[in-house]
This record gives sequence, structure tokens and C-alpha cells, in this order.
Amino acid sequence: MERVDCVVIGAGVVGLALARTLALRGCEVVVLEAEDRIGTGISSRNSEVIHAGIYYPTGSLKARLCVAGNRSLYAFCAARGVAHRRCGKLIVATTAAETDALAGIQAQADANGVTDLQWLAAAEARVLEPRLHCAAALLSPSTGIIDSHGLMRALRQDAEDHGAAVVLKSPVLGGRATAAGLEVSVGGADPMTLVANRVFNAAGLGAQAVARGFEGIAPSCVPPLHLAKGNYYGLSGSAPFSRLVYPVPSHGGLGVHLTLDLGGQARFGPDVEWLERENYDVDPRRADGFYAAIRTYWPDLAEGALQPAYAGIRPKLHGPGEPAPDFLIQREAAHGVPGLVNLFGIESPGLTACLTLAEEVAGPSGG
Ligand SMILES: Cc1cc2nc3c(=O)[nH]c(=O)nc-3n(C[C@H](O)[C@H](O)[C@H](O)COP(=O)(O)OP(=O)(O)OC[C@H]3O[C@@H](n4cnc5c(N)ncnc54)[C@H](O)[C@@H]3O)c2cc1C
Repeated sequence: MERVDCVVIGAGVVGLALARTLALRGCEVVVLEAEDRIGTGISSRNSEVIHAGIYYPTGSLKARLCVAGNRSLYAFCAARGVAHRRCGKLIVATTAAETDALAGIQAQADANGVTDLQWLAAAEARVLEPRLHCAAALLSPSTGIIDSHGLMRALRQDAEDHGAAVVLKSPVLGGRATAAGLEVSVGGADPMTLVANRVFNAAGLGAQAVARGFEGIAPSCVPPLHLAKGNYYGLSGSAPFSRLVYPVPSHGGLGVHLTLDLGGQARFGPDVEWLERENYDVDPRRADGFYAAIRTYWPDLAEGALQPAYAGIRPKLHGPGEPAPDFLIQREAAHGVPGLVNLFGIESPGLTACLTLAEEVAGPSGG
């Protein structure tokens, strides 16, 4: 039975960032990934936006780790040559009521330490984006876009350069605490058992299943997993805006927004579709709702311009209509298994916050 200091379960952006942090601190790290490649989960199906940290409740992990993570991520991208662009984002109000809401968003951002938002009257916003329809807008200069796969490759490289091993096709089946440490059972073509001092469950949509596989965890400690699918539609033709454009958030989501990829192509999404089981098909009929939402801020959107693109699934800890909880970092004190740390509900802004979340999870002294 092989012995290691740390096992990280899952090679998404969070697991890889965590492996890098632990390896940089001198820990011996093995990353166990079920699939045959890194980054095929949530981390490959998102908006690829570097968020500023505007909307989250002040003092929450999401707010704190996003605001700090935004800065850390830009610095990491610059140092490691990860493709990204600080393109900025406009949050647009299209009615008087939404203009009031915009003022609330600016106050929330200020409280979170995002102090660079600029209030724009409609005419000022149209100087930046002539095709935009709005009553007023907020410009977030520190919002940007990133090549998420380039980021994951760089994180993996750093981790491996500091001695970490990323082992693919290695699904974790379960584990148990023993006197020697935490035993981790790994399936796949070459089943094995590892003994580790610390195990970090960063399995994304699989985090609840992994946790349930550890002996000694009370079922009540494993939060329910709610699957909230987001569908994306690509825009044929050139992008109408050079910045990201978001409506005022509604119904607990950010609303159908325009994001850009690094090639300059525009896509719209995501919406919220609650699922019973994982399914990544994008139904062309859902585009009907997108047209109406997008035309509130871009009235010139032509009929038939949207094409189904891809979908991602958020690992929500709440169901429809319930308040959104914070990221959940669950340690021994909460679940009783020594050495095990579970990460639950790592939805947005998990990509932006990957570096700061990794520091938070690893702890101040790596413990
Ligand atoms: C629609 C959508 C849009 C988003 N947009 C943004 C955005 O613009 N900006 C932002 O900051 N964040 C965004 N996010 C959030 C961000 O994408 C996630 O927070 C982040 O990618 C989560 O990474 P992860 O490593 O936790 O999960 P994942 O990337 O899913 O990685 C988990 C890994 O664990 C593996 N795994 C699962 N079970 C096992 C097992 N038993 N054994 C071994 N391995 C296992 C999986 O194969 C997977 O590779 C968005 C999310 C969604 C869904």
C-alpha cells in the first residue's frame, strides 16, 4: 500500500490549484482524477469570466476569495503566460426600477472592496458600446476573460514541477480512517489503495458521492446536490460589443449575459435549468427565452442569430427559490473523519477564486 502526504481528488481547476499550492509548500501530493484528461468537468463548461466579486454577500467566502482571487489570477496569468483579457464588463439597467437596483449593486460592490465600478449614464455607455440599449450602466474594469484550459495546464505544470503526481483514470471509490492514516480506495483498470495524511475532496459534481464513500461520515453531513444547468448559445457573425454585457440580476441568477471568448466570438448564457440527472444537451427551443432577454439590452439581435453551443452544470447546494449558500469547506470538526476536507457547492466564482480558495483550503500552515 503506497503512502503519501496529501491526496487531492479531482483534477478540475480547484483540485489542480490546490495540488499546486500544497506542492509549492513542499507537500507530497497525488491528484486522483476519474477521467482520462484533466479539466473535463465543470471547469470546462463555464463562462470563463474572471469575476470582480461584485454581487456576493459581504464577508462570505465567495466575496472574499473572489475579490482577492481576481487579483491573484491576473498576476498568475501574467507570470505564467495564460491567455486572458481584462476586457471589462457593463451591468446594464434598462428601466428606472433597474436603475435603482444598479445603485444597490454598486453599494454591494463597494462593501466587498470592489471600488473601481464606474456609473455611466445611458449616453456615456453608448460612447463605449454604440449598440447598447440602457437607461444607465455600471462599468467593471477589472472583469475579464480567461482561457480556462490554459489555466489548468499551467496549474498542473507548476504542481508537477514541484513534485506532484497527477494520476488519470483513477476514480476514488471510498475511504476510511485507520491508525496509519486515511485509506483511499481507487478503482479503474489498476485498482489500488493509498494511505494519506490528508485527503482533499475536490470532485465537483462528484463531491457528494465521494464523501458518502468515506466510512464514518454521517449522511446528514453530506449536503444535497442540486444540478443547475446553464445553456449557452453562440452568436453567428461578429460580436456586437467589445465588453461583457450583463443585465441586472434577477430570480437569483445573473441573467442571460453576453460573454466573449479570447477569439472575440460572442456567446450568450447561461440560464438556469434544474435537472434530475446530468445532461449536457442544449435544446434549441430554449433559445426563444434568450432572444427576449437579450433584446432588452440589444434590440437589434436578429431572429435566428443564436445557435446552441454548450452547457455546464453548477453544483448547487440549494434548490429552486432557496437562498444561495456560500462555498462549503467541510473539515474533520464538521464530519468527524480525521484528515478529510470536503469541498461542496464550488460553483461560480470557483474559476476566479481557484488560487485563493486553494490557499484557504490548504490553511495558513498547510494544515
Ligand atoms: C454554467 C457555469 C458557468 C460558470 N461561469 C463561471 C465564470 O464565468 N467564472 C467563474 O469564476 N466561475 C464560473 N463557474 C464556476 C466554475 O466553473 C467552477 O466553480 C469550477 O470550475 C469548479 O471546479 P472544480 O475543480 O471544483 O470542479 P470540476 O472542474 O468539475 O473538477 C472536478 C473533477 O473531479 C473529478 N471527479 C469526480 N468524481 C471523482 C472521483 N470519484 N474520483 C476522482 N475524480 C473525480 C471530475 O472528473 C472532475 O475532473 C461557472 C460554472 C458553471 C457550471
